[in-house]
Amino acid sequence: METNWTFKHYARRPHGFYRMGPAIHRGSDKSGRFILKIIHAGLAVSVNPLGDAWAGTLDGDFSFRSAAPICEVLMTDTTLMTIPGQVDPVPVVRDITPRDDGRVDLIGLPKARIAELFADAGLDTKQAKLRAKQVFHWLYHRGVIEFEAMTDIAKTMRPWLTQRFVIGRPEIVEAQHSTDGTRKWLLRTADGHDFEMVFIPDADRGTLCVSSQIGCTLNCTFCHTGTMRLVRNLTPGEIVGQVMLARDALGEWPKGRMDISEVEDEAEYTADGRLLTNIVMMGMGEPLYNFDNVRDALKLVMDGGGLALSKRRITLSTSGVVPAMARCGEEIGVNLAVSLHAVTKNVRDEIVPINRKFGIDELLQACADYPGASNARRITFEYVMLKDKNDSDADAHELVRLLRHYKLPAKVNLIPFNPWPGSNYECSTPERIKRFSDIVFEGGISAPVRTPRGRDIDAACGQLKTAAEKKTRAQLDREVAEAASAS
Ligand code: SF4
Repeated sequence: METNWTFKHYARRPHGFYRMGPAIHRGSDKSGRFILKIIHAGLAVSVNPLGDAWAGTLDGDFSFRSAAPICEVLMTDTTLMTIPGQVDPVPVVRDITPRDDGRVDLIGLPKARIAELFADAGLDTKQAKLRAKQVFHWLYHRGVIEFEAMTDIAKTMRPWLTQRFVIGRPEIVEAQHSTDGTRKWLLRTADGHDFEMVFIPDADRGTLCVSSQIGCTLNCTFCHTGTMRLVRNLTPGEIVGQVMLARDALGEWPKGRMDISEVEDEAEYTADGRLLTNIVMMGMGEPLYNFDNVRDALKLVMDGGGLALSKRRITLSTSGVVPAMARCGEEIGVNLAVSLHAVTKNVRDEIVPINRKFGIDELLQACADYPGASNARRITFEYVMLKDKNDSDADAHELVRLLRHYKLPAKVNLIPFNPWPGSNYECSTPERIKRFSDIVFEGGISAPVRTPRGRDIDAACGQLKTAAEKKTRAQLDREVAEAASAS
């Protein structure tokens, strides 16, 4: 595989700066790990698949003589989408990072890729395909976390798998349980970055709110995550890993017969009446700025032989990355939600700054063109209620006019603002929210008010991460142990 890269900025080393580019190089190293080397006046740069980068001087055999982490390097991978946004999308190197011990995490990989890895590790093609089919089933359908539990795989084969591969899950740093049933987890990646996941149970459904990035570049002013810098995109494994972790926590893996060579009998499963029924890509980050990884993860979630959640039960929420919206409908096919939050240019420019790049009309036209949208699969417009900012009668009437003008199959979700420390807004009064909702309803568009959930825990997106950064490791360990024994 080849990748093109352009380095646009400077590499910072402890004793100064190196001008990096632009310089273009194609290639990957022998292990296929996408380690890239740019030689520029004796300088080399290495980028691992997580996007971490180092710069240093080289030995003749292309190993670093000295190296230091690079700050402020942006890369353009021509195999990635380019979005002419207010900020460039963060590039993702699309391959696998072995752990420090050389083992590869299988979570996040499709069946065909697992078969390739097994073949690379020495199995013949037929064996590799069969083992991949079995392992895929155990990973994504049964949720096992060790190869020893894969009882239809030969006992001698299991240590072979354990020596070469890992079944990963994000680490749980902190778990909170609200009195209303909402559960929130602070999770940590293998390279030590924290992100969040929330489960919201309702009478008729259970919704998992999944993160796509660690931090966010878009700086929506009402959003706590918007105050954090973007650390990196989550990988497909870290995205689908959230769903798997939630199934672990809710005890929702099927416990039926394990032999996949026979037709499975639904009646043998004990996980009927599941708690986790829906997924929203509405956690930390802008999912369409991590398109490829989100798509790959959701394909695993939707795979009938794996987690098997229907695309009708998955909703992707965007702040309005217009150039990627059609692709989302075509390549993923899930429901669309749009963080609209304002109906005039001035206000939306302020609270959802991507509006300065892709304005309201452009956004609504992209919604009208969204593949698969219909009255049966309406687009959700999220609207956070901010006192004296976006909550007037005129705003409500304008919202109705816009949605009608673009003939959108729409529903509006009115969200009472959940203040966080340092936020500049107040929530609209209940009377104002009701009035706003009534106007939109009278305009023929459904506009329910979302019931605030988990207000007794740090439920606003990003709050748990910030709060945890102020705690000691010992405190967090104690809280995880207490939560585990309480559940
Ligand atoms: S609302 Fe979404 S896109 Fe905007 S800053 Fe928050 S996480 Fe990012």
